[in-house]
Amino acid sequence: MHLDAFELHRPTSVDATVRLAGELAGRFDFLAGGTDLLPNYKMHLNLKPHLIALEDVGELHGHAGDRIGAMCRLADLEADAAFLDRYPPLADAVREVATPLVRASGTVGGNLLVETRCFFFNQSYFWRASLGFCLKADGDQCHVVPQKERCYATFSGDLAPALMALDAEVEIAGPSGRRRHPVGALYDTAGDGIQRVTLRPGELVVAVHLPPGAAHQRGRYKKLRVRPSYDFPELGVAVAGVWDDGRVSELRLAVGGVDPHPRRFDDLTDALVDHAPSEERVRALGEEVARRVRPVHNTFLQADYRRRMVAVYVRRALAEAREPVAA
Ligand SMILES: Cc1cc2nc3c(=O)[nH]c(=O)nc-3n(C[C@H](O)[C@H](O)[C@H](O)COP(=O)(O)OP(=O)(O)OC[C@H]3O[C@@H](n4cnc5c(N)ncnc54)[C@H](O)[C@@H]3O)c2cc1C
Ligand code: SF4
Repeated sequence: MHLDAFELHRPTSVDATVRLAGELAGRFDFLAGGTDLLPNYKMHLNLKPHLIALEDVGELHGHAGDRIGAMCRLADLEADAAFLDRYPPLADAVREVATPLVRASGTVGGNLLVETRCFFFNQSYFWRASLGFCLKADGDQCHVVPQKERCYATFSGDLAPALMALDAEVEIAGPSGRRRHPVGALYDTAGDGIQRVTLRPGELVVAVHLPPGAAHQRGRYKKLRVRPSYDFPELGVAVAGVWDDGRVSELRLAVGGVDPHPRRFDDLTDALVDHAPSEERVRALGEEVARRVRPVHNTFLQADYRRRMVAVYVRRALAEAREPVAA
């Protein structure tokens, strides 16, 4: 597999990046660490002739206070134990992304916008050609749910559920200026595995902001994957909240790795507020979340198994959040 030629652009400010994105509309991708995009390019998946590298845009780098720049490397976050200790679900998620080598290049912004995955899509050009391609690249049919004209590729980033459970916001820059909204609103819940995000043309993610109340909340991120030292999540469950005398006074739960976008379940967690989370209540919560998710068989583990594990991982995440275990 090889990389086809592309033209690389290296703007140095957010304004210049937005301007360039406008000029190259529809013909470029942003390049952060490249750990997701470039392997996809090598497989000839939806190539663009231009790449806008974000490496030289100073404003996007670093993390401080409650702000994490989009170009902050996962390894840099991982190395800052004092920062991560304030956000246990984020700490779990960062440490479980891929391998140390991937985390050395992979960024927070790239992780939030990682391409959705499917074993009919993440394949070489020739492999895909032998099946006549699919809706997500070069083709006009879905091999997973052939009756439907939509894509079921799975959102497989680790950070999004953790940041959603922490109620974090994402800062976006684009042709109409800057805006901020919850991380969950980055994902197009009305879309599918192709139309996966709500970013408007030319917009980029500048930073993630954690709310002051998120620091030192209890929480966990529990990840199901085949090879614990390497793989994408087959399921990721994040919880964050506040327990007062055994009662829940605040709780959020987000799930990734089973649908085309990560999801929060506020109506279910709100019902636990002001209650002690008894075994029965937690079991009912896990079972209801499992009933609502829609995994399909397009990743390594069977959809039914992933769905059943949702209930198990919700119980585990809540139990460990309530009684924190040493890292
Ligand atoms: C072997 C392997 C294992 C992996 N395992 C995992 C895993 O377990 N969990 C996991 O979450 N990921 C995993 N990944 C995927 C990937 O490495 C990470 O998600 C990484 O954090 C992506 O960041 P990046 O900076 O390399 O993104 P890139 O590859 O540079 O970009 C990814 C996408 O985001 C867009 N983008 C990047 N930054 C911005 C921005 N600021 N604004 C707008 N668009 C932007 C790019 O255009 C591209 O579409 C794995 C990858 C590999 C190769
Ligand atoms: S879910 Fe269907 S359309 Fe989407 S990537 Fe897989 S095979 Fe292609």
